[in-house]
Amino acid sequence: MKAAPFEYLRAASLGEAIEALSGTPDARVLAGGQSLVPLLNLRQVRPTLVVDINRVDELSFLRKENGQLEIGALTRHRVLETSETVRSEVPLLAEAIGYVGHPAIRNRGTLGGSLAHADPAAELPAVMVALDAGFTARGPERERVIAARDFFLGPHRTALGHGELLTRISVPSHRGGWAVEQLSRRSRDLALVAVFATVTLSGDVCETARIAIAGAGPTPIRATVAEEALVGRALTDDVVALAAELAAAATDPPDDLHAPADYRREMAAVLTRRAITRAKEGA
Ligand SMILES: Cc1cc2nc3c(=O)[nH]c(=O)nc-3n(C[C@H](O)[C@H](O)[C@H](O)COP(=O)(O)OP(=O)(O)OC[C@H]3O[C@@H](n4cnc5c(N)ncnc54)[C@H](O)[C@@H]3O)c2cc1C
Repeated sequence: MKAAPFEYLRAASLGEAIEALSGTPDARVLAGGQSLVPLLNLRQVRPTLVVDINRVDELSFLRKENGQLEIGALTRHRVLETSETVRSEVPLLAEAIGYVGHPAIRNRGTLGGSLAHADPAAELPAVMVALDAGFTARGPERERVIAARDFFLGPHRTALGHGELLTRISVPSHRGGWAVEQLSRRSRDLALVAVFATVTLSGDVCETARIAIAGAGPTPIRATVAEEALVGRALTDDVVALAAELAAAATDPPDDLHAPADYRREMAAVLTRRAITRAKEGA
């Protein structure tokens, strides 16, 4: 199929993009186009205006500032995947990004696009929730920062308001061990279930633990009760197994043709156990 007709604007600046978005209620941003173009072609979305931000250079940057990575929304996945800074400061993100589609998709796709698309099975929204990232949104009147945990409202629904553009993603650096554990039907498909974890230790005792799960609810899930079951304890097999069960209990998986809900919940436990164990070994 071909897309329904729409007006196209190639924005030359952030100001021009925001003005166009705020002037047309059903306008859509075009970043890498890896999700938007199929949706247009399948006529699942029919915007009257598409605002192309690919020439807005001020949205494309990657730098370390005050103990965190500041990443422009238009930064391509491939830039993040090959960045030494990302690998040393936020290795969980570096590992997770390799799971996003295939090289051709990562060459065009952008971090902001993946987050704004808010697919519950996507890797990067869950990574951002695990790492307590902050998202800067710019609208016609103001700029605001939205915590990753408050950003994802449901499948393909975010806290971005009318006329707002995601401009910057701030990701705190992390120490210790980390792990990505993902189950999908084919290599590099969207996750049936994926778990992203970091662990820091003081001696044998867990100092901090972060666990986020993709594919197991309408939004990425931060498994806080499971994290609390780890902190302050030695990470024995029993402690890790209990946390894995608590993480699975926090999920609300879909029941669809790809996998039944019970299977996804069981896999959430299995993958959490593996992720914590691997993160502990690297801590
Ligand atoms: C074959 C295939 C396999 C894939 N596999 C995976 C996978 O395994 N994991 C995964 O996570 N994804 C996967 N994807 C999806 C894809 O990688 C991402 O969704 C995509 O990279 C999103 O970024 P984009 O820049 O292409 O966004 P676009 O497609 O341009 O936009 C996506 C949505 O976000 C909005 N948007 C974009 N940028 C902004 C912004 N700055 N502010 C506000 N709104 C914005 C758009 O309006 C649109 O609604 C796959 C895609 C394909 C085609």
